Amino acid sequence: MEKQHLVEPDLEFIAQVMKQGGDSFKNCYQCATCSVVCSLSPDNRPFPRKEMLAVSWGLKARLLADPDIWLCHQCGDCSARCPRGAAPGDVLAAVRSCVISEYATPRFWAKAVNDPGKLPWLIALPVLIFLVPGLLTGLLDFTPSGDAVVHSKFFSTWLVDMIFVPLAAAMLISFGASLRKFLNDMHRNAVMEKRTDDADIDFTGFFRALIRTLPGIFRHDNFSKCSENRERAVSHLMVFFGFGGLFITTVVIFILLYVFQIHGPFSQLNPLKWLANIAGVLLITGAVLMIKKRLSQADRKTVYGDWYLIGLVSGLGISGMLTEITRLANAAGLSYSLYIVHLVFVFHLIAFLPCSKFAHIAYRTVAMAYTRYIQEKEIGEPENQPDTPVFSRSGH
Ligand code: SF4
Ligand code: SF4
Repeated sequence: MEKQHLVEPDLEFIAQVMKQGGDSFKNCYQCATCSVVCSLSPDNRPFPRKEMLAVSWGLKARLLADPDIWLCHQCGDCSARCPRGAAPGDVLAAVRSCVISEYATPRFWAKAVNDPGKLPWLIALPVLIFLVPGLLTGLLDFTPSGDAVVHSKFFSTWLVDMIFVPLAAAMLISFGASLRKFLNDMHRNAVMEKRTDDADIDFTGFFRALIRTLPGIFRHDNFSKCSENRERAVSHLMVFFGFGGLFITTVVIFILLYVFQIHGPFSQLNPLKWLANIAGVLLITGAVLMIKKRLSQADRKTVYGDWYLIGLVSGLGISGMLTEITRLANAAGLSYSLYIVHLVFVFHLIAFLPCSKFAHIAYRTVAMAYTRYIQEKEIGEPENQPDTPVFSRSGH
């Protein structure tokens, strides 16, 4: 007698996917056109047809630990060709949002970030955190001395670090734990699917796979394989390198201040300023292109989480740039106000990174590296693996 399996759909998960913009999965009749047209779908484990089925069956555990949903770059090639208007690209994007919320800790943090009704509270929170210790310690001075605009006289560097260093440390610990759980779950799935006999992940092998995956991510190789929305790669790359530049600048300034006791503000001719300004321009331009693209695609689902991310990216870039311009123009009141606004955006970036859509950078990287790792386990480790982990079908 054949073994029977009882499938218990997780209706709450299905409702969550629908809320995140993935409701079109109901139209799918499993023709597999999407898996055929997707240029990123591997021959041995094609997607997104199987994910469309898993969503309709409410297979939450399987989808949460499915690395394939992260190989999709939401180009829309499959959605454009689906004969039933099922938009698998949007469904996979919705599942990815659910994965981020599900692994994020604390959970109420993730729920708040994805609830537009909570946004005023999330804006008020950092303002309160700045004001209370700032006024109590005197490190926030609303009447700074001197003619020139110096932000550290208004909002002390000590206060910035007192708030942001512990916040960043807590975020890194929480995010690291979420990613570790995600990685373990992917591996458990692979063991259950008999893709590997190793009960535990070989972390040396995984990190080797990660190193080999990174160049392809930096070049955005997979973006350029899509045909419908290839130009998305440009705005994505701009935001990616914009953040990279600002991250490097922040780390260098931190080291200069605490290791070498060199204080800002720095001259506009300083290479650090050059890097920060170029990164800021990249960030703003990339964000504007993203907004333009979203608004021009009426058929593509854009949910609150997408706008939160785009708002964060553009707000961060614009407030940072305006703070600098008003400082140079010596418009003290305006510059100090903009600096507070900028710090609110920085707070959101750090505090909510593990539970907002921004976290996709890390989840995608881990999933792509794991895909490469498990493929190398399945077929052996070739000498010259391509930089992308996906084995595309011939002709692509
Ligand atoms: S999503 Fe569309 S193209 Fe893909 S299997 Fe379903 S009906 Fe076919
Ligand atoms: S949106 Fe693009 S990358 Fe994602 S499954 Fe569809 S065709 Fe593939």
